[in-house]
Amino acid sequence: MKSMHSVDIDTVEMTLDIMKYAINRISNSAPDLGSPKKEEELLKKVGETVTKEGIGGEKAFKLFRDVLSKATVPVDHPRHLAFVPAAPTRAAVLFDLVTSAASIHGAYWMTGGGGIFCENQAMKWLVSLTGLPEGAFGVFTSGGTSANLSAMIAAREAWRDQNKENQALRALLITSNGAHSSVKSMAKVIDADIILVDDDDEDKLTGKWLQKAINKLSEIDRKRLFAVVATGGTTNAGIIDELDEVAQVCENENIWFHVDAAYGGGALAAPSVRHLFKGIERADSITIDPHKWMFSPYDCGAVIYKNIELAKNAHSQKGAYLDIFKDEGAQGFNPADYQIQLTRRLRGLPLWFSLAMHGTEKYTEAIERGLELAQNAAKQIEAAEHLELVRKPSLSCVLYRRKGWNAEDYKDWTYKNHKSGFALVTPTKWTKNGESETISRFCFINPDTTEKDIQEILASME
Ligand SMILES: *Cc1c(COP(=O)(O)O)cnc(C)c1O
Repeated sequence: MKSMHSVDIDTVEMTLDIMKYAINRISNSAPDLGSPKKEEELLKKVGETVTKEGIGGEKAFKLFRDVLSKATVPVDHPRHLAFVPAAPTRAAVLFDLVTSAASIHGAYWMTGGGGIFCENQAMKWLVSLTGLPEGAFGVFTSGGTSANLSAMIAAREAWRDQNKENQALRALLITSNGAHSSVKSMAKVIDADIILVDDDDEDKLTGKWLQKAINKLSEIDRKRLFAVVATGGTTNAGIIDELDEVAQVCENENIWFHVDAAYGGGALAAPSVRHLFKGIERADSITIDPHKWMFSPYDCGAVIYKNIELAKNAHSQKGAYLDIFKDEGAQGFNPADYQIQLTRRLRGLPLWFSLAMHGTEKYTEAIERGLELAQNAAKQIEAAEHLELVRKPSLSCVLYRRKGWNAEDYKDWTYKNHKSGFALVTPTKWTKNGESETISRFCFINPDTTEKDIQEILASME
């Protein structure tokens, strides 16, 4: 009987089919948008797929290609402007396939050396964009959530190590209302309390308001405060906190300063907005998601530390069977030592290949294009009778309203466009002076999105 790992003529044919699909998909810059379907509906169409004998590769693949993949939304569709879309480069997607085929364990240098070398080359560029001082370095993670978590754990460990008294204290951190939901979730994971601080006039965290909030803390809460998380581009509106001011307060108060630039981090490579991030070079840690605005396929996040030794102190795992890795691995960089995950895929490899192939200037161009699209959308909105801007675009996020619409109208419009395969643009909420309003939002990442796409989407709101 054939084993699961044998290579025979059927496997070769299936491989060709799958490769053909992959090549077609990679070269298709306007894939079908896919329409939403219920699970029962899908099950009715494809039946049970995992059985004792297996249904065969050909059939399983056909079901995926012809039915199941059509119930998904490709992140790289040029009229997918919802959430934070993505637009992985073809080079990066191809190398994602290579990353799987190469079967490399990326936790330790001993087994992953050559691949980790590539990841570190890409990381060197990311670190250079931040302006962090010599000695700063980072590691690729599964995304922004785990990057934020890894940074918070490193921060808390450093704080606990500072002072014996801190070891018995429950940790407390300050962030803003605009901070990503993962910051609040990860605070729960590490069982830390969280305080949300904003300057309401500016809709962001500023030094003045941060200082005020710290001054208001009780003596014991001040002792519990171990970190401030600022955002380098909020996910909802693209707003960048006053990083330089926040850095100053954190330095004065001796608090770990983390910048979550999961979405906005790509804009560090864009000269037209780089000045807005002033102060990021003073951070103790930074999150950037290459799978958002750096054109990597999922999943690829990154966490960068000013002092990478502090991360090692918090994350390095010890175990009888792991010692050997450490001996040989000591000759190189061990990604497992700097974030929460042990066994890991070489997530930075697709980014590396794409960067090596295209050079960093092409990244700058593609990111500037997203910023330009946001400015163009703002112009079109201002010129349209039925629309108005809620606020000026920040980075590549545009918040706008369709005059006279309520929450239901936005929802109906979203589903109508999604079901017809035209576009995916979802509503969001914007809160001002305690009042929350449902509005529409664009987030531009894909350089293939056109001014005409924007025009047609806006026209569909008339
Ligand atoms: C997307 C995002 C995250 C979460 O990142 P994932 O990669 O989805 O885990 C965290 N922070 C910000 C600011 C984000 O935009």
